[in-house]
Amino acid sequence: MNKNINWIEIDRPALISNVRAFRKLLEPQAKFMPVIKSNAYGHGLPEVASILARSKLVDWLGLNSLDEAVALRKQGIRKPLLLLGYVPLVRLGEAARDDIRLTVYNKETVLALAKIKVQKKIRLHIKLETGTNRQGIDLPEAINLAALIKKYPHLFLEGYSTHFANIEDTTDRSYPDSQKDRYLKMIARLEKLGHSAPVNHVACTAAALIFPDTHKNLARIGIGLYGLWPSRETMLAVRDRDPGFRLEPVLSWKTRVAQVKTVPSGSFVSYGCTYRTTRKTRLAVLPVGYYDGYDRKLSNTAHVLIKGKRAPIRGRVCMNLCLADITDIPGVRLEDEVILLGRQGKEQISAEQLAQWIGTINYEVVTRINPLLPRIIV
Ligand SMILES: *Cc1c(COP(=O)(O)O)cnc(C)c1O
Repeated sequence: MNKNINWIEIDRPALISNVRAFRKLLEPQAKFMPVIKSNAYGHGLPEVASILARSKLVDWLGLNSLDEAVALRKQGIRKPLLLLGYVPLVRLGEAARDDIRLTVYNKETVLALAKIKVQKKIRLHIKLETGTNRQGIDLPEAINLAALIKKYPHLFLEGYSTHFANIEDTTDRSYPDSQKDRYLKMIARLEKLGHSAPVNHVACTAAALIFPDTHKNLARIGIGLYGLWPSRETMLAVRDRDPGFRLEPVLSWKTRVAQVKTVPSGSFVSYGCTYRTTRKTRLAVLPVGYYDGYDRKLSNTAHVLIKGKRAPIRGRVCMNLCLADITDIPGVRLEDEVILLGRQGKEQISAEQLAQWIGTINYEVVTRINPLLPRIIV
């Protein structure tokens, strides 16, 4: 029996179907690395990892922080883990101990790793700067870093990577093309100098969907794994080329009615008196607020689903509560299930819809759901 009042459901068949879709899409030589940073994009790190770890279609797992990777090792997950983010110098020993692959772009990191005593080699991926101007180094620095890594027998330069700045938000391909070009030139130069590495990776979801030549021998798939499109432009580009390609949203966010009440016409609703009823109104009190990740910008804007129908949020979203107008939905009772994100009957509230209401992207909607809410695999 589900005893929760505010919880996340993870649709295992949907997740597995997305895994299959990407494995099928990726070039055969490309390893498949789901990116499960940021609490698996809010879906729940241990839950998502436990499903992916059992899949033969999944090769590596990509993470942002050391804590995420250490938690997976504690959970007993043996798959190769690659950190995409930064590890503080004082904690590099922990990464080595748990056989966690690292992305490097500072000589300080390599010098600190050089001092660590280990049985197994520490595997490193140099992040190359090709125009995103975020993490990464340009060619002269990369040559020096590769040479430095080579000096230490317990360090192994396993890979090179880069990250695109502008694939999702545009149909203009000139900038990613320039980054691909720069990357190939950098790799060619590094190889010529004797600094080759067996693994090459550049693709995020949008790159993998749009440019097969970005698959290289490892693809880093984040948002698409969760059944969400990186952008509308990406979706339209793929629909045109491959109408059969489908992604299934994995996450639903649910709650239950905590109180039903009727207020007279002309009543103010919630903090700030920002909504005033224009008729006798029935309200459902919902035990969800901005603390949970239900953004305050959804005040007087969002809808939720109750009994398969849309109910508008009235007044301000509070820290732990909000209010839905159920005047037009007969028969709503205490503890009836309410959908904040997901499907009920023929209706759906998508992450994209919530993102539009808030003025953000689907990535932020799901990653900001409070990690303390229970995640249930269904
Ligand atoms: C988060 C991240 C990804 C995944 O991006 P999606 O758009 O979610 O597929 C890939 N590479 C790097 C370096 C990232 O930080």
